[in-house]
Formats: sequence, structure tokens, C-alpha cells
Amino acid sequence: MKIPFRRPLSALRRRAADAWVRALIRARQPRTRMEPAPASDRPPTSFVPASADAPAEDADAFDGARAFALLRAQCELGPRSPGSVGHARAKEALLAELARWTDETAVQAWRQKVPRGAGAGQAYEMANLFGRIDPDGAPAREGAAPELMICAHWDTRPVADSDPDPARRHLPVPGANDGASGVAVLLELARALHARRPPRSVGFCLFDGEDLGDYYYGSRIFARAAGMPGFARWRPRAAVLLDMVGGRNLRCTAEINSIVHAPSLWNRVHASAAALGLDARFHGPAMRITDDHVFLNRAGIPSIVLIDYAYPHWHTLADTVESCDAESLQTVGDVVLHFVRALPPA
Ligand SMILES: [Zn+2]
Repeated sequence: MKIPFRRPLSALRRRAADAWVRALIRARQPRTRMEPAPASDRPPTSFVPASADAPAEDADAFDGARAFALLRAQCELGPRSPGSVGHARAKEALLAELARWTDETAVQAWRQKVPRGAGAGQAYEMANLFGRIDPDGAPAREGAAPELMICAHWDTRPVADSDPDPARRHLPVPGANDGASGVAVLLELARALHARRPPRSVGFCLFDGEDLGDYYYGSRIFARAAGMPGFARWRPRAAVLLDMVGGRNLRCTAEINSIVHAPSLWNRVHASAAALGLDARFHGPAMRITDDHVFLNRAGIPSIVLIDYAYPHWHTLADTVESCDAESLQTVGDVVLHFVRALPPA
């Protein structure tokens, strides 16, 4: 029997083989890249009425009434689950609003097949929407990471599967708290930080596909991509996720994944709540919740979620504007803004 002589792979061929394996791995995941938001020849206009804009003398403070107007304006677009008319309208409106207040915006778009859960058997166009504000307003160095990213999910659930009426569980939720509240606080924070710039770079990310299929598509695809070239300037050192922060009588959950995986960040944000005399609103019942922050933590980005999981209208048709209030948005907005303003300068 003749044994063929096999030469060891040359470095060049080994690199080619590695690239082939990486391409195979990538082929199993939806293709995605980070692109600048499409340029518009018109100045960005807001989807909230100008009357909601804060008076100039308080421009650098968080305005709960304006955040509430942002929550209402999203609900008026209709349900915003991927594939819906409301989703397409919201993408445009939210990008325009981000562009008003941030130095730079970007979009991570992809096509997502949904094998399980709500919306299963279909593929949807999805997009994570990004913005960043740098301390001096000058474009940040290439690759410079934001110190902090404030995140929320902008999609809403296509089915009200926890509604008390079984005959209405196939209908989409309005998503006033579950969706619009986190987005509203994030956008109002962007406005206040544009009025008086933060001491460190702050990124903003609106995740898509949190509430569809088996959940969290946006944060999962961002977490997988965050280490790749092209994403470096959007990969934050830490992240604060806002979800269901608009319900009346807010009392945020003591969320165990956050406390375990990002204890220092958790403590610093809660020190801001204490400094403002708001800590009673942030020490709700302890609970472990899987949300977008879990995938960022897995990617090595320390992340916490501020969430009131005891909201009684979760995934029901009663998740409406009337179930939310400006005071809850104000509470969360004040705490996050206090924390950002207290970041030590670089
Ligand atoms: Zn939800």
C-alpha cells in the first residue's frame, strides 16, 4: 500500500482554510453590516409636535412631558412589529429623531428568518438603529468606542398572547410600555445630552426584533457582530437597557442578571437614583429576566436593564398610552441622565 506524502499546509493555505471555515460559520447567520443612515437632503423633522419641545432655559434637563409625547407619537404610528406598516413608519421616524440630536447615525439591517414563536415561518426585514454623541461634538477617532450605550427595543409584539380575552390574543399589542417607553426615554436623553454634551461618548441603540419569534434578534445579531471590523466604534464599554419604564407607579425590578454580570454598573446607576432621592422606585422584587442586556453581557459588554416587570398589562391589548405616565419616564430619565453626567471625563 502506498501512503501518499502530504506536505504540511503552508501558512498561506492555512489562512485560506481558516477563512473558508469562518465563511461557513457566517453563512449560517443572516448577513449584516453597519452602514451610515441614508442621507436626506432635508433637515430631519420630528414626529412629535414642536409644542412638546422643552423650553430653552431647561434644555439640558430631562423633560418627562416631552418623553411622554414621544411615547404617544410612537403609538399613533400603530403596532410596530416587523413586517407591519407601523414598523416601516417607525423606522423612518426614529432615525430622523436620532439624527436631530446625535452627531452620527448608523443602521445595522438584516433579513431574519423566524423559525419559532410569534410570526414563525416567515422572514422579516429588521434593523438596529444607532446614534452617538461625543463630548466635544467633533467626530470621534476611528474605532473609538462609546463609553456607554443606552439601549431600548423599538419593535412591538405581534400578538397579545397574555390578554385576558382569548378571542383577542391574535391581535398585536399597542406597545406603549413594552416598546415605546424605553425608546421615548432614550430619545429624550439624546435631546438633553445634545443640549449639554456628556463628559464621555454616549451611544444610543434601538434594537429590532426583541418581541418576535423566540425573541431578542436585534441584540443577538449585534452582540455577534460587535467584535467585527466596522462595528468597533459602536461597541460600547458598558450598556444600560431601558424596557417597560413607562407604566404607572413605576417600581423597577431588582434584576439578577444585571446584578451578577455588571455589579459595578448596577451600583453606580443606583447611586444616582439614591442621590436624587428616587431609590424607592428602583428596589422592586428580585427576579432574573432575560432581555437584550443578557446577550451584550455574553459578548463581554457589562450591561444592566432597568425594567418594571410587574407591569400588569404586559403583552395585552391594555398596554396603551393610558396605562403609562410621564412621571415614570421622568424618574428613569432623571436617573440615567444623572449617571451619564457623572461619568468621569476621559
Ligand atoms: Zn414584550
